[in-house]
Amino acid sequence: MKKVRTRFAPSPTGYMHIGNLRTALFEYLIAKHDGGDFILRIEDTDQERLVEGAVDIIYDTMKQVGLHHDEGPDVGGEYGPYVQSERLPMYKKYADELVDLGGAHYCFCKEEDIEKQRKEAESLGISFKYDDPCKHISKEEARERIANGESYVVRQTIKHGGETYFDDEVYGRIEVDNNVLDESVLLKSDGYPTYNFANIIDDHQMGITHVVRGNEYLSSTPKYNLVYESYGWEIPTYVHVPPVMKDEQHKLSKRNGDASFQDLVKKGYLPEAILNYIALLGWSPETEQEIYTLDELIKVFDIKRISKSPAIFDIDKLTWMNGMY
Ligand code: GLU
Repeated sequence: MKKVRTRFAPSPTGYMHIGNLRTALFEYLIAKHDGGDFILRIEDTDQERLVEGAVDIIYDTMKQVGLHHDEGPDVGGEYGPYVQSERLPMYKKYADELVDLGGAHYCFCKEEDIEKQRKEAESLGISFKYDDPCKHISKEEARERIANGESYVVRQTIKHGGETYFDDEVYGRIEVDNNVLDESVLLKSDGYPTYNFANIIDDHQMGITHVVRGNEYLSSTPKYNLVYESYGWEIPTYVHVPPVMKDEQHKLSKRNGDASFQDLVKKGYLPEAILNYIALLGWSPETEQEIYTLDELIKVFDIKRISKSPAIFDIDKLTWMNGMY
């Protein structure tokens, strides 16, 4: 059996709320339950959305709750997190390879023109899917244009017809008609990979066996899988989790600083109590036990008991748990 390897892959776009921390905890528990490895990876390729100080908050939070990662680049004698913006040349190499394999193509269209078409379609109430004429340019011609300095992106090529499906550990079988999948940009004109592409390459490169993330990624996962298939790579096990909600209608938001871990600690909540609380948020043990150490959680954690329904953050329950420590 392959060694279980999981990763927590936050984008540093805001504070760390307890929903983000719950994803990290589930990743950690899945790895440790099987004696596997847990990795921390900062997904910072969307430079416009970065929030200053967010990486430090992620790093400090993980240390404070004791979710230590098992490997990473050396930073002053300890393992740092992997940081995507430090790995840029690798993504470009993989993008060129994907073009050779037929899973992507070079696109020279202007973003403004595509936007204009999108707006026109939207104003007519038609759903927009870009039919890229550059798909028909030969690789040789495209590479010559690139060598001559023309600006380009690498765009995913999706073959029409057929269905893509996968089995999610929480949501079961997800099936999508390939005709509805749009051909997203994988490598931008500034040479940065898009978030989706860097995520796929790193999950493969780092040997990730289980991908745990928010259910908002369920609809893009078929596109990820088509990229895996083009390379001939093994598709990981997916564990999509429902969001943690502020109330019935609103999800917790990193940008608004909702239920921020650091704020809760400042208000006197103990990191161990917060960790215990979030373990039981959307996951239920087999017994009535409510207070666990991290080691006990590692022993009893089971993916099969993650709930499909969104969980609502309940400060009273957290306060009760905090009193038990
Ligand atoms: N970087 C993504 C986020 O912070 C997580 C995606 C993933 O775990 O695959 O939302």
